Amino acid sequence: MTESVRTPFGMGADPEFTRLLPSIFDSIADGMTVVDREGVLRYANAAAARMIGHADVSELVGTSSEQAMDRLDLLDDDGRPLAALILPTRRAFSGEPDPEATVRIRSPDAHTERSYLVRGRLLEGPDPDRDLVITSFQDITAIKRVERRLSFLLQASALLGETTDYRDGLSRIAWLLVPAVADWCAFDVIVDSETVERVAIAQSDPELQRASGGVDRRRPTDSTLPSMLDEVKRRRRSVHVRGVTDEVLAQATLDADHLEGLRGMNLRELLSAPLVGRGHVLGAVTVGLSPSEPPLSAEDVAMIEDLGRRAGAAVDAALLLAESQESLRLQEEFMAVTSHDMRTPLAAVRGYAQLARRHVSGEKQDLESVDRWLSDIEESASRLASLVSEFMDVTLLRAGQTVPLQPQPTDLVAVTYERVREHQGAAETHTFEISNGRDAIVGNWDPARIGRVLDNLLGNAVKFSPDGGTIEVKITGDDTDASVAISDQGMGIASQDLSRIFLPMYRGANASGVAGTGLGLAGSRRLVELMGGRISVKSRLGKGSTFTVILPLAGGEPVQAATE
Ligand code: ADP
Repeated sequence: MTESVRTPFGMGADPEFTRLLPSIFDSIADGMTVVDREGVLRYANAAAARMIGHADVSELVGTSSEQAMDRLDLLDDDGRPLAALILPTRRAFSGEPDPEATVRIRSPDAHTERSYLVRGRLLEGPDPDRDLVITSFQDITAIKRVERRLSFLLQASALLGETTDYRDGLSRIAWLLVPAVADWCAFDVIVDSETVERVAIAQSDPELQRASGGVDRRRPTDSTLPSMLDEVKRRRRSVHVRGVTDEVLAQATLDADHLEGLRGMNLRELLSAPLVGRGHVLGAVTVGLSPSEPPLSAEDVAMIEDLGRRAGAAVDAALLLAESQESLRLQEEFMAVTSHDMRTPLAAVRGYAQLARRHVSGEKQDLESVDRWLSDIEESASRLASLVSEFMDVTLLRAGQTVPLQPQPTDLVAVTYERVREHQGAAETHTFEISNGRDAIVGNWDPARIGRVLDNLLGNAVKFSPDGGTIEVKITGDDTDASVAISDQGMGIASQDLSRIFLPMYRGANASGVAGTGLGLAGSRRLVELMGGRISVKSRLGKGSTFTVILPLAGGEPVQAATE
């Protein structure tokens, strides 16, 4: 129990000192009020008048303290509305010794919000009716902001650390920011050079949440709408708009419906901060505030930027992990396919060798058959050698290294006929039709690599036309270039996939039911480019595809350099 002040008010004081008291109280930073049991404000120093929103103390003294407080938005430490009853002044009159509370006071225009540590103390009068309560207001806004920022960042880091799915982590962080800091929050992640994914969104009003766009909404980055994210990416730092216009709002949206939703929220302020991972902008966190929220302080902006860095690191780590898992999976798949492909020629080598031995050591020596089997062994060994060198090429190309080409005069017509013959031999439901404008087209190319590119394109033509059909192969050439066009009547490629199928590991949307690694075309393009050529595709979904390889007769750069 604290001892209450028993000296009757004003007794025994030096008159000169008493005269100075108001100036002394006005000079201190803490607010101070004195209220009687009737709730009448008997004294307020200058700081208290400022806190309550009055310039002049004399306007306040003699008025009801509760009326004065009623004008203000009083919130508890968690931002919930606070009843006057539980304020320390009332509690001190009820006999509670030295009550205190943290109170957030929001100005009537909502433009400022400050936190105070409010303490009440009873001053006993000569009789209970003349008791007074002295209430002090210590401004702890700065401490609270640091505390809130720290706790927010700690919570955000914990959320990011808790889940391996960064989308889930970002969504939970968005809900930490809303409504504590903002009315609306969205996280956008740059998927690739052409697409952005909205991975999380939070909006305190569920009706508006629906209207302001959902997650998983992808939009092309090259849309005519300039976005805040594009601006953040270009400037590599945050973009802060204090007076939001319709035009600015359009930059935070994904489409017209979504724009309507955001308009409904009446946002006044928008801040978009970059998600940064290993020095790259991977996306942005955008928050929006309506006029009923205090504007973002410099500390809030710094906190959201810090959050962007933490979220960016988490997104980066998650993407890296996914990439390496995918890469590992593909590597395993590639190894599985290659070792499976190796098994057939290996079995053939063993089988023919056993047959040959039996005949050579047996009584009846059929040398003609032995000679044929030895040729078969040779052929299988070449197939094995080419599989091993394909494996090495893929490994080199995947590691970003170049492959050592072995250019020599090569007849494209002969190589193509040989590859088509082999594929025709293995195909049951497909017919190959081959045509050539000239009998021989000779260029300075690596025959094994050309064979591999053709194998890949012919193999794809077969596997992506599961209903069979005709595969047309056209060889043409002039004095400078040669080309092979391979057309199938298969499932075709969706237009949005066309520009990407040459990327490593990219597989078309309709390819999931067909075995593959997505590495073939990437490797083929690289090999063709190394020989100075190019490869292109035309396709219609459901109708078929045509892949065309064009090679300059002179071969690629390295060859030209060597012959100079
Ligand atoms: P994979 O065949 O292992 O999937 P590729 O790199 O050879 O890998 O091909 C990449 C993607 O291109 C395929 O997954 C498929 O979506 C598409 N594609 C390639 N060739 C064809 C074709 N002839 N018809 C339809 N789609 C094709």
